Amino acid sequence: MKIVGIETHVCNARMRNWIFVKVVTDQPGLHGWGEATLEWHTRSVIGAIEDLSSLLIGEDPTRIEHLWQMMYRQHFWHGNGIVRGTAISGIDLALWDILGKVHGVPCHKLWGGPVRDYVRLYSHLGGGKMEEFYETSPADASRFADLALASVADGFTAFKTMAVPETGPLEGLKPIRYAEKCVAAMREAVGDEIDIMVDCHARPSPRMGMLFAKALEPYGLYWFEEPCWPEAVDDIAAIQRAVGTPIATGERLVSQHQVREYLEKRACSVIQTDITHVGGLSEARRVAAMCEAYRVAMAPHNPQGPVSTAASLEFGFATPCYIICESVHLDVPWRQDVCTECFEVENKGRLVRPGTRPGLGIEINEAEVAKHPFEQELPQRSFYADGSVGDW
Ligand SMILES: [Mg+2]
Repeated sequence: MKIVGIETHVCNARMRNWIFVKVVTDQPGLHGWGEATLEWHTRSVIGAIEDLSSLLIGEDPTRIEHLWQMMYRQHFWHGNGIVRGTAISGIDLALWDILGKVHGVPCHKLWGGPVRDYVRLYSHLGGGKMEEFYETSPADASRFADLALASVADGFTAFKTMAVPETGPLEGLKPIRYAEKCVAAMREAVGDEIDIMVDCHARPSPRMGMLFAKALEPYGLYWFEEPCWPEAVDDIAAIQRAVGTPIATGERLVSQHQVREYLEKRACSVIQTDITHVGGLSEARRVAAMCEAYRVAMAPHNPQGPVSTAASLEFGFATPCYIICESVHLDVPWRQDVCTECFEVENKGRLVRPGTRPGLGIEINEAEVAKHPFEQELPQRSFYADGSVGDW
């Protein structure tokens, strides 16, 4: 069996251009689907996939580890940057999809079978509608509470919010009080049974991140995410030592080598590897093995399209330290239309159970994808009050 083509199919979903990767074989009807979505870098990833294709055309698609080693190590430059890491990931996912189809089993069976009965999904506040998640004013605590109740009404038992405002390197009490007010309003609205996560998007400086983490400690967050830049691993570790709240980070880390330092320094309690950036399912499984050794949980970053979610779910069914799957469901109204086959989400509790469809269990409707061609992503620029550049 040989790989005869690697195609990219771009589907504009407002905030992101989903990049679906199709690896085509010489066996009639046998192909695999992956995803390599990297918002604001769509053209770069498509180019990187084209560059990698020259290594893979004519090769046996079932030699996944061998091909992964080629993609990561050949051509001198290692695949540990975000663009090439994403390109490798998209292809790697498609290769696992093919291998499952060859053997007629879902991917989680290839990795030793299911270790749990279901995976729980969590939502973004607003279900992934970008205005609600990214642009709800931190001053509007009651809006946070309303959206939190809407998530619970949708069946979710966990949701994530961006209740921490953009702040300069050092600011006074005002942003801290805002964040406290928003989180208090959500906790009061939904009670103690529901898990609330707060994502800082690495907006704060290390010191502001520490102040936010301490202020929000009484509200029992399920986790507190990216309290400062991922480059500042010692500062993240200091924040984790200062609070009992689990600190989550890792969505921007590419390759097991970047994750290792976080584990060695006991910097966090949750690693949020993104399967579509880290180096695919092959590399995510190596990260998982390290997390198991440190008894650190995994909750992959997954705000992208449906193939990314399918891969994250298959990974979760077979990975003991996996705790929950990120999901968005209201980003575009036609989200379900781009799949002809997909995972099924139970409304009550938003649970997904292991299925029997081979590979990643998902099939992309190319005609539907073609209705949403590439568009430049909506610009997201961030400036502080004085006009200096901030972090979105
Ligand atoms: Mg995040």
